Amino acid sequence: MKVSTLVDLLDRLYPFALAEEWDNVGLIAGDSRAEVAGVLLALDVTRDVLAEAGTAGCNVVITHHPVIFRPIRRLNESELQGALVGQALRDRIALIALHTNLDSAVGGLNDTLCDLLGLQGVKPLVDSGRERFYKLAVFVPETHADKVRQALFDGGAGHVGNYDSCSFNTQGVGTFRGMVGKTSPFLGTPGELERAQEIKIEVILRREVAGRVVGAMLGAHPYEEVAYDLIPLHNKESGTGLARIGKLAQAETLAAFTKRVQDLGIFVKAVLGAPEKRVQKVALCSGAGSDFCTSALSHGADVYLTAELKHHHALAAHDKGMALVETDHYTLEQKHWPRLAEILSGQGLKAKVSERGPELWRRP
Ligand SMILES: [Zn+2]
Repeated sequence: MKVSTLVDLLDRLYPFALAEEWDNVGLIAGDSRAEVAGVLLALDVTRDVLAEAGTAGCNVVITHHPVIFRPIRRLNESELQGALVGQALRDRIALIALHTNLDSAVGGLNDTLCDLLGLQGVKPLVDSGRERFYKLAVFVPETHADKVRQALFDGGAGHVGNYDSCSFNTQGVGTFRGMVGKTSPFLGTPGELERAQEIKIEVILRREVAGRVVGAMLGAHPYEEVAYDLIPLHNKESGTGLARIGKLAQAETLAAFTKRVQDLGIFVKAVLGAPEKRVQKVALCSGAGSDFCTSALSHGADVYLTAELKHHHALAAHDKGMALVETDHYTLEQKHWPRLAEILSGQGLKAKVSERGPELWRRP
């Protein structure tokens, strides 16, 4: 498998288009034409992680945090970022980032955390899902409607929630007249007005597959000039967003909840709330989710789990009686990698979860 094919696969699993505007995801450095020898999954690109990739025979490192985040104007190897990118390029290691797209995606990091904690009826905590759909309408002679519709589906259009092959079809009459000497129409004669029985096929598609879908549609369509509309929609993908809220099947004490978090290997740095407080409605956010504390409060969460909580958010939570469980960034965000490693192994790739951190915080 080429690096570019791996990137396409990751895009289907955790669409890059879901990433926040300020983020930087996808292939950050490396050669998309290279053959993938092995994939190492880590939180950050560090010197240790690059060394581990070399030892493990992995020439692709997928991290949650992008090694290049904000736009840069220069790379100096005497500084950490330049040194890491320089080292990766010299070692021919491709660096791929799955960041807020992984947080947000259905079946991504936040959903994994909800699964591990046994949350049910999980929904996004904040409406941070991006507008990322197009509507495609194409006019096809009746004889070719099935072929073109199938090409649209094969290209990746027509997915709505857990349904595929979704389309709407209306019959009508198309008219056209080709110029004499310049056209050879599939139907009719140049210079004469043609009235053709056509089907208007409408499908919804993700923006990132638009090129592929339109290409497949044009390939299957018999006309030399194809009439179609590609229209941006304001629909948002349901189930996506940077944080989640759900319910435990049964209420438990804050102490028991905290213990279960720790038992998952997540390092709990601090807890706000009485140990005997009953919790059932749980909000969580992978990474530094302090800013969603207000949303957790307004949704009536009993407890909010995230990393890097700010003092003034803790004050607000304390005032309203919402418990807080603050974890470290690393152990919280490592939790999805075993699942992705399994998916990649299923595709015949060598995939390994990094064992070299950075686990920066020490348990006291
Ligand atoms: Zn993070």
